Amino acid sequence: MNSILNVEKDVDKVINKFTSILDHCDTCLSDLISEIENMRRDLLESNDPEDILPSSIRVNLINHAIKKIQDVTVQLAKEHRDFHGAVSRVGKAIDKNFSGEYGCMENRSLWSDEESKTSLNRVVIEHFMRKGMLDIVDAIAADTGIEISEEVKKPFTELNKILISLRKRDLKPALDWVEANRARLAEQNSNLEFKLHRLQFIEYLSQGVGKQSELIAFARNKLQPLVSSHEKEIQTLMGSLLYLKTGLENSPYAYLLDILNWSEICDVFIRDSCCLMGMSVDSPLNIAFEAGTIAFPALLNIRQMMNSRRVANVWTAKDELPIVIELDRKFQFHSIFACPILRQQSSDANPPMRLDCGHVISRDALTKMSNGSTKVKCPYCPVEQNPQNAKQIFF
Ligand SMILES: [Zn+2]
Repeated sequence: MNSILNVEKDVDKVINKFTSILDHCDTCLSDLISEIENMRRDLLESNDPEDILPSSIRVNLINHAIKKIQDVTVQLAKEHRDFHGAVSRVGKAIDKNFSGEYGCMENRSLWSDEESKTSLNRVVIEHFMRKGMLDIVDAIAADTGIEISEEVKKPFTELNKILISLRKRDLKPALDWVEANRARLAEQNSNLEFKLHRLQFIEYLSQGVGKQSELIAFARNKLQPLVSSHEKEIQTLMGSLLYLKTGLENSPYAYLLDILNWSEICDVFIRDSCCLMGMSVDSPLNIAFEAGTIAFPALLNIRQMMNSRRVANVWTAKDELPIVIELDRKFQFHSIFACPILRQQSSDANPPMRLDCGHVISRDALTKMSNGSTKVKCPYCPVEQNPQNAKQIFF
């Protein structure tokens, strides 16, 4: 973090300098241009022969102007050179504050087989589909030979269009989408439809008494069918009608006009639509990248330490990190199991096994304990049982 702040200081200096140079340059050039235009006019447009200046004075005037242009150009070129100094200081600050020695972290074998490469490309493609950047999706698909059918793209395009409309406070596309997916949304207890109608009601409400008849018709047609599930909230909305005449701003219902309602509806829409499509709310690529930026400095440190002490062979375990990386809750998606006997995290090769008695240990621990026998004692309860009866647990 400190490294970023240090570089930011230099970047700020460059931006300030650039703005002031740009302003100064603009003023100098426009002054110069208007001066020359005035002079040109004076020299050319005078019709009165008495007014025309003798040629020696005209030459002097022009020479003087040329000298001034040259001076200003030299001055601007000097400022430009100084600016380069400030820009190169940013480069030096980046070199000083960020280590460029990432070579030791490289693991080329990760992407050596075709399957891994295709998986990575698919994750990247999905990321851009989520963002609605379909031209990039097409370009990557063409480059990698991965086929993305229109069918797959369609829901992403639709969702992005709806989100753009919501951000512009246009509820219609979202309401149409809800209408088309009502049954499936109801299955997942979504209250998106109510929230959209509520916002529409508030929108009418904020337009004052002129919208009274629309408000009442809207409440009858759209809110009434939702009374059974949102009784209290609808009562509140009806109560706000009392202040339609005097304005909602100075009433106890002023909170209804809060602009946050609009950002909330976008979040609810993203959450419910992703859930409907069986996708996580955040892009997996984003999450992996964010987690990576948190974990990377610590891993880089430990790798450099291992290299300097010549103990590089310590970190050889596949799919395992040499230290525990603490990540926020938002990075935790499923439970993990650590064997209480071997004190190791379970893996595909050594999965957790549930014993007859209900206690869980890793398969390696069970194999070691049973040692080929048909009887094993649970290390916890200690019920004697057949190790063959243990069942693998999947998280
Ligand atoms: Zn037990």
